[in-house]
Amino acid sequence: MINALRGTKDILPDEISLWQRIEAIGRDIFNIYGYKEIRTPIIEEASLFIRSIGDATDIVQKEMYVFSDRGNRIIALRPEATASIARAYIENSLFQAGGIAKLFYIGPMFRSERPQQGRQRQFYQIGVEAIGSDNPFIDAEVIALSARFLERLGVKKFHVKLNSLGCQKDKIRVMEKHKESFRPYLEKLCETCKNRFDKNVLRIFDCKEDSCKSIAQNVEAESALCSDCAGHFEKVKVGLNAIGIEYTVDNKIVRGLDYYTRTVFEITQESLGAKDAICAGGRYNNLVKELGGKDTPAIGFAFGMERLTLALDKAREVKIVRCKVNTFVAVTGDALYNEAFKLLDSLRMAGISSEIDYDTKSLKAQMRKAEKLGAKFVVILGEEEFKNKKVVIRDMENSSQKEVVLEDIIKEYSLILSTP
Ligand code: ATP
Ligand code: MG
Repeated sequence: MINALRGTKDILPDEISLWQRIEAIGRDIFNIYGYKEIRTPIIEEASLFIRSIGDATDIVQKEMYVFSDRGNRIIALRPEATASIARAYIENSLFQAGGIAKLFYIGPMFRSERPQQGRQRQFYQIGVEAIGSDNPFIDAEVIALSARFLERLGVKKFHVKLNSLGCQKDKIRVMEKHKESFRPYLEKLCETCKNRFDKNVLRIFDCKEDSCKSIAQNVEAESALCSDCAGHFEKVKVGLNAIGIEYTVDNKIVRGLDYYTRTVFEITQESLGAKDAICAGGRYNNLVKELGGKDTPAIGFAFGMERLTLALDKAREVKIVRCKVNTFVAVTGDALYNEAFKLLDSLRMAGISSEIDYDTKSLKAQMRKAEKLGAKFVVILGEEEFKNKKVVIRDMENSSQKEVVLEDIIKEYSLILSTP
């Protein structure tokens, strides 16, 4: 017996309606905001992620699935989509269309972390990227979009936490300040964080170890933005205030990936417990240039879809509905089976979801099956009626029956379906 790999999951037919609902609402709202879908490959050159996310980050150091292919190329299963989309933007000259490239994506990401509730090795993200503007109102738009998406899904009790890391120079200055704050606790930090202290002190704020978490909670975290970046941040807030998006400013939201600059944000949801982050995002003004493109500011976010489904399950906002069939074709006796099969096909051709019993059991057993499938109607092919080219349509809701001419059945259906 071969099982699914640890940290991967089958999404079964009974669960899929929830996933499809999230995707449909996402596609709809992203379109309303002017974002178009992009699908990039799941495999990329590993160096793409090492260069953009940063080689001192957990994602690159500990979590990335890397292998060499048959041509000895070093390949990674994508751990996130932003770097791939920045690459695609440059490679396909998406800047040529002018204006802002507004893109969204839905798809699987891969990180080799310890699997637990809300944390998998293959998980799904749904997110957007707006590439080509540093206007603070774009930041406000992207953050608002993430909140409006949650509202539309019916996710309650979520919190937007906002911060600005400033430009590259500010970031270096802020990191120096954070180093001074953490220095007295250096010995008490976990081994990884001791390493982070030198390499990327910001990541200490993202550590999941309890002791590091409590140290991070207690240290000072001042903001130290240059006047340009401070001005930009103020305008982001003005934009959010103008449209009533609630947020709290939290200097400890740092998003330790190398590519982030200026605005960063996170959304948490109360019912999710320890892994309460459902969305993370921010600006990456230097990434496109670093990957060989023109100097192009950009911002985006990503939601974890598993955590969205958990938030929705917990809120009991979405009932998981089994997909129902409209019509069940029941048949008495093997002789008519071929006719029943033909009828089934014409119903389906007419767009009516229909089923038949391939085990050809008794009529009673077929009726039970129809009920189990939630069929609204059962079309019964009986030997007697069929001699006159007639069938019986039974309305399962009120148990009424009527005999109709086989040839007219599709016409009958449009009558039935059009009467409320
Ligand atoms: P976390 O702090 O939970 O490790 P992260 O900072 O690694 O999250 P990002 O890389 O910013 O997360 O990804 C954005 C979102 O993707 C997260 O907020 C989370 O909802 C989801 N996510 C990240 N890693 C996983 C995972 N291994 N399994 C399921 N969802 C994940
Ligand atoms: Mg993580």
